Amino acid sequence: MRYVVIGGGIGGVCCAEELCRLAAPGDEVALVSASPVLKGVSNVVRLAKYVEEFTVVERDAEAVATPNLRVVRGWVAGVDPASKTVRVAPADGGPPPAELAYDALCICAGARPKVLSHHERVVTLRDTESVQDFAARLAGAHRVVVVGNGGIALELVGEVRGVEVVWALRHAHIGDAFFDADAAQFLLGELTAAQRARRGGEGAQQDERQGGPEGQGSEAQCAERRESGAAAGSSGRGGGGGGGAPAGQGGRRLGAALGPKWSDALPHGAPANVRIERHATVLGVYGTRAEAVAALAYADSPWAPAAAAGAAAVDGSGGGSGGGGSELDRGEWPAWVALAGPEGRTVMGADLVVSAIGVEPATEWLPACLERAPDGGLSVRADLRTSDPSIWAAGDCCTLRGEEQAPHFFQMRLWTQARLMGLWAAQVMAGRQEDSGLSFAFELFTHVTRFLGKKVVFVGLYNGQKLGTQPRGDVVTYSRTLDAGGPGSTFVRVLLLRGRMQGAVLIGDTDLEETFENLILDGLDVGGYGPALLDPNIELDHVFD
Ligand SMILES: Cc1cc2nc3c(=O)[nH]c(=O)nc-3n(C[C@H](O)[C@H](O)[C@H](O)COP(=O)(O)OP(=O)(O)OC[C@H]3O[C@@H](n4cnc5c(N)ncnc54)[C@H](O)[C@@H]3O)c2cc1C
Repeated sequence: MRYVVIGGGIGGVCCAEELCRLAAPGDEVALVSASPVLKGVSNVVRLAKYVEEFTVVERDAEAVATPNLRVVRGWVAGVDPASKTVRVAPADGGPPPAELAYDALCICAGARPKVLSHHERVVTLRDTESVQDFAARLAGAHRVVVVGNGGIALELVGEVRGVEVVWALRHAHIGDAFFDADAAQFLLGELTAAQRARRGGEGAQQDERQGGPEGQGSEAQCAERRESGAAAGSSGRGGGGGGGAPAGQGGRRLGAALGPKWSDALPHGAPANVRIERHATVLGVYGTRAEAVAALAYADSPWAPAAAAGAAAVDGSGGGSGGGGSELDRGEWPAWVALAGPEGRTVMGADLVVSAIGVEPATEWLPACLERAPDGGLSVRADLRTSDPSIWAAGDCCTLRGEEQAPHFFQMRLWTQARLMGLWAAQVMAGRQEDSGLSFAFELFTHVTRFLGKKVVFVGLYNGQKLGTQPRGDVVTYSRTLDAGGPGSTFVRVLLLRGRMQGAVLIGDTDLEETFENLILDGLDVGGYGPALLDPNIELDHVFD
C-alpha cells in the first residue's frame, strides 16, 4: 500500500506515525509538510479510559522520519482523485516539484482563522509568523481590541502586556466555549488572585460597571497559559494572508498551528489593563471614526443586511452612534471599531484589532468533488472517509457528520481531537478497525487543558451541548468550589439529564475524571443523590465502584 498524508500538524503527524506502526512490510508512508517543523504529542498520560493528558511538541522533520516514513517538504498544490496522485509544489528550501501516487490518502490540512474585517490593523493568530508579526506591531501600541471568546482570546488576553485591552465578547461570561457562568466566575476569581499575587498585594481593580457575573464588565489581568509543553519554534511559512501561494491555495498559506507556548513570543511588561465588553457585537473595523459612525448608522437603516441589523438590535437605547464621546472614542487612531453592546452603539479607536472569532477549515484548494459540510470542512462520518473512498480526512479540516449517533461526543477543533482523528483514520485506512457505524473512538468527548496553571478536564456534554431540545426541568446541574482563591482550589460542575450524568467540568486536581467518565458511560441513575453527589466527604469512586 502507498499511504500519503498531507499536513504536518498533530492530525497529520499522528496519522502518519500510526500508519507506520500498523504498516505491513512493503507498505510506504509519505507525509507532506510545507514546514520543516512538525507537530506531535509526547508524555501521554491516561487519566481514564478516554481522558488523556499530553504535551504538544515540535520536532524537526528529520527527527520524525523513520525507515518506513518519508517526510516530503512541499505544498500540495492539487489532489487528483481520478489518477490518485497529489502534486507537490516546492516549499522554501525544499526539493523540486513532485507527484506522489497513493492508494490511500489522508488530508490533515487544518483550519485558518476567520477574518473579522479586511483592515490592515486587523490581525489573526495562527502560526509562529503571525504571532511574531503581532508581537512586533504591539510595540508602540496603546490599545488592542480583542474580539472573540474562545480559547485563543482567553489566552491572549492573559498574555498581552503593557497596553490597554478591550475584550469584546458576544456572551455574558468569559470563555463561553469552555465554561458556563459558574466556572467562568470561579476562573475570574482565580485571575484576580493571580493578579494580586503578581502585584505583591496591591490588589486588582475590578470594574463593576455592569455588576455580577452575567453581563458584568470587569478589569482583570489574566495569567498563566492554557497548556504546558515544548517551546514553540519556527513553524515555517506565514499564516492567514502571509506569503505567496502555490496555485489553488487562494493566495494564502498557513503553517502548522502554534505550539502551546506561542504567547512567549509576545513582549513582556506590565500587566495589561483589560476592559471586558460583554454582549458586544463588532460590526466592523474602519480607517476613520467617521466611517465607523456611518457603519453604525447604516446598521440601523432598513437597507442593512439582517446580520448587521440584528447586531445593532443589541442596543436598546437607540441612537448614540458614536456621538457619546467616551474616553475610548477620543484621539487619533489608525483603526476604528464599530461596536453594538447593551449600553448602546459605540465606536472606539484602536491600534490593533485581534480577530479571534473562530476558524474555518482550509479546504478551498481541494477538488470540488470531495463533499463539504456547511462549515466548509471535508464531510466525514465515523470512519473519517470522505466522499471519495480512497481519501480520508482528520483534524481541523474535516467535519464529522452523524454525531447524533454518539450521545456523548461532539466535534471541537482541538489538539485532542486532531490526535484522536489522526490515529483513528490511520487505523481505518490500514483496515485495523471495523469502520461501520459509530466507532468507539467517538464515544465520549474529553479534553484536558490548563487554565491559570490549573488542570481542567472536560468530559461528555460538559456545557449542555446537544441537550438544547430537552425539557428545561429535566436538566440539572450541581457545582462545588473548594478552597476558592487558595493554591489547591478546585471547581467541579456536573450536568444531569433525568438523573443520569451527561457531562462534567473539573478544574484543579479533583481526581474525579475516571468516576465521572464511568457514570456518564454507564448511564447510572444518580438523581437521588441530589447535590450530595458532589459532597467532598463522600468517596464517590467507592460508592459507584
Ligand atoms: C493560537 C492558537 C492557540 C491554540 N490553543 C489550543 C489549545 O490550547 N488547546 C487545543 O486543544 N487546541 C488549541 N488550538 C487549536 C489546535 O491548534 C488545532 O485544533 C490543531 O492544531 C489542529 O491540528 P491539525 O493537524 O488538524 O491542523 P494544523 O495543526 O493546522 O496543521 C495543518 C497542517 O497542514 C498544512 N497544510 C495545509 N494545507 C497544506 C497543503 N496544501 N500542502 C501541505 N501542507 C498543508 C499546514 O501547513 C499545517 O502544517 C489553538 C490554535 C491556535 C491558532
